[in-house]
Amino acid sequence: FFMTLEGPEGSGKTTVAKLLVERLEKEVEKSIVLTREPGGIAIAEKIRDVILDVSHTMMDARTEALLYAASRRQHLVEKVMPALTDGKVVVCDRFVDSSLAYQGYGRNIGVDNVWEMNQFAIADLMPQVTFYLDVPIEVGFERIYANKDREINRLDLEKKEFHETVVEGYRQVIERFPERIVVINANQAVEEVTEAIIQTLKQRFPD
Ligand code: C5P
Ligand code: MG
Repeated sequence: FFMTLEGPEGSGKTTVAKLLVERLEKEVEKSIVLTREPGGIAIAEKIRDVILDVSHTMMDARTEALLYAASRRQHLVEKVMPALTDGKVVVCDRFVDSSLAYQGYGRNIGVDNVWEMNQFAIADLMPQVTFYLDVPIEVGFERIYANKDREINRLDLEKKEFHETVVEGYRQVIERFPERIVVINANQAVEEVTEAIIQTLKQRFPD
């Protein structure tokens, strides 16, 4: 079983993913794998560092999109596919919808172009369900600035308008995949966000 978490900066994906895994470990008999994109394995973490390096200000948008797709491919082959083959539950912090929203829409490459390019990387392996953590952009930004442990990356140097465009991109992605993507109100405590996800999972996948 493959599920992903999506949302803009400061929507709480990483924290919620951890809480969600703790809950699933108690309530589900299968083993749970928590992972993230870009990253999750050595090769993909290195690609992540290349993409997010604050000194790489000249990186071309298509180069960036290709690097995300490359890290996605390697992460799927090395980590996600073997786990799914073993019958495990995989919870992934970000997946292809991030590329559609950030590169496709935010960087203006076009959602269709980025989707097509990613077909080569993912070869039809899509999550059964995706939770979109919906948070007003101001709230997300406040959370990020309040979190002193967060390392600044190249995307944090983007203007607020860029991140607003990303949220608009996510809106389009949600319209495109209305069955797969479930919108969760993330403007509430992380425990409540986690609870909302658990309830949806119980409804949709009773076994
Ligand atoms: O998952 P996390 O929020 O740590 O992502 C790291 C950074 O990568 C974020 O700042 C996000 O904006 C950026 N990102 C991106 N395009 C993607 C995935 C992540 O610009 N497809
Ligand atoms: Mg995160």
